[in-house]
Amino acid sequence: MAGAGRRAARVAVFPLPFQGHITPMLQLAGALHARGLAITVLHTAFNAPDPARHPEFSFAAVPDAISDAAAATEDGSMDRALAMNAAVEAPALAESVRDALASMLRAGEQEEEEPRLACLVIDATLTAVQEAAAGLGVPTLVLHTCSAACFRLFRSYDMLYDKGYLPAQESNLLLPVKELPPLQVRDLFDPSKLPSKEIGLKLLNLANETTARSSGAIINTFEALEAQELETVRGELAEKGIPIFPIGPLHKLTSVDSVGTSLLKQDSTCIQWLDTQESGSVLYVSFGSVVHITQDEFTEVACGLANSGKPFLWVVRRGLVLGVEKPELPEGFESAVKGRGKVIEWAPQQEVLAHSAIGGFWTHSGWNSTLESVYEGVPMLSRPNFGDQLVTARYVEDRWKIGILLEGVLEREKIKRAITMLMEEKEGMETRQRAKNLKEKMRMCLESSGSSQQAVDKLVDHILSF
Ligand code: UDP
Repeated sequence: MAGAGRRAARVAVFPLPFQGHITPMLQLAGALHARGLAITVLHTAFNAPDPARHPEFSFAAVPDAISDAAAATEDGSMDRALAMNAAVEAPALAESVRDALASMLRAGEQEEEEPRLACLVIDATLTAVQEAAAGLGVPTLVLHTCSAACFRLFRSYDMLYDKGYLPAQESNLLLPVKELPPLQVRDLFDPSKLPSKEIGLKLLNLANETTARSSGAIINTFEALEAQELETVRGELAEKGIPIFPIGPLHKLTSVDSVGTSLLKQDSTCIQWLDTQESGSVLYVSFGSVVHITQDEFTEVACGLANSGKPFLWVVRRGLVLGVEKPELPEGFESAVKGRGKVIEWAPQQEVLAHSAIGGFWTHSGWNSTLESVYEGVPMLSRPNFGDQLVTARYVEDRWKIGILLEGVLEREKIKRAITMLMEEKEGMETRQRAKNLKEKMRMCLESSGSSQQAVDKLVDHILSF
């Protein structure tokens, strides 16, 4: 393996330009760099990462159509499926990626100190980019930024339609999907419910095609968490000669820190505030980087937190409330929660979850947030919105039993009840204990002989074999 001198090979990475995709891709790049590989990050102008934060990587910008898609939506916010589609479809994109790869290939051949380009790692829906790489003989690996359960689900849509689970009907929402336990019909991401149904279905198909044509699938998970799900997908892909690498949690396998991956500025004053709170007493509340809620829901959340009487740290990011740039808190809220409630625009989330004052996490069940919570042994109150979040929240409640699902219309009394249950009652305490147990299993995967470390080693060997 290369030391400080010439690196063994170069890996180009190209994430979709959203926080939940950029973060794990840069973390993966950090893990590969630590094992002697050189890294080039290809990125769009929209949500571009800051090269100054990653002097160890090279960067190359490629054009995209995302900003146009964002501008075309009524309130200036972004329909995620449309934006992802724009990223996939932008005609200049694949061409520009091909040029960037060609230049890396040339440099590898002509410059003595420059490592050869071994492969490109992409997000699952970037099929056109994969084709461009294949045209140059560059193999691709696909990084799946969701769980193995979700990966398995996304590969099962033909079955779900054939067996009549989808399109979902009001009458069968609670029906268990016996082929994919513990999921119920209401947990399935139903593309027919999307405003842009065709695009949703197309993206699912693209993700499967891209994986089928790849030289390997990397999943941000770990063996002890999803052994069964991994076994199924591993079996399916092994038939096609495609290996699977369960490498997670990526945020603990890398030197790339959260300041380096965050697109928004983190407000660290909350850490000093947490220092003043009692151990295990604070509920951390964050709905991630893309979820929107309505003004009514926002008011109910605020009143639920205020009425709960519990200390809380709430991330109200700009744009959280649909159509509102900077949401306003209800009148009287600030005086009602003085001293025990803090509202910020963006948190250093990993640091927050690691703080001893945190006793629970009210989350939208994004996969990165879930892994970060599992790593710290923090039990969750899950409020999923769409896509993989529904699957993750079901697993959190029914499979791993490390959280409580908050379902139905958001209403202040219900929120107060759920918070009390998680933070105070017997059920919450048992959930907390299980979260602590799972944390230990996760940490074992990260030890030098642990399954995730071994998977990184195997991935590096695989890359060097190209
Ligand atoms: N995050 C953060 N500060 C916040 C809220 C979130 O740094 O105030 C980070 C969080 O640590 C996670 C990512 O943003 O790594 C969110 O990813 P996730 O997959 O959970 O959700 P998404 O934003 O993609 O819906």
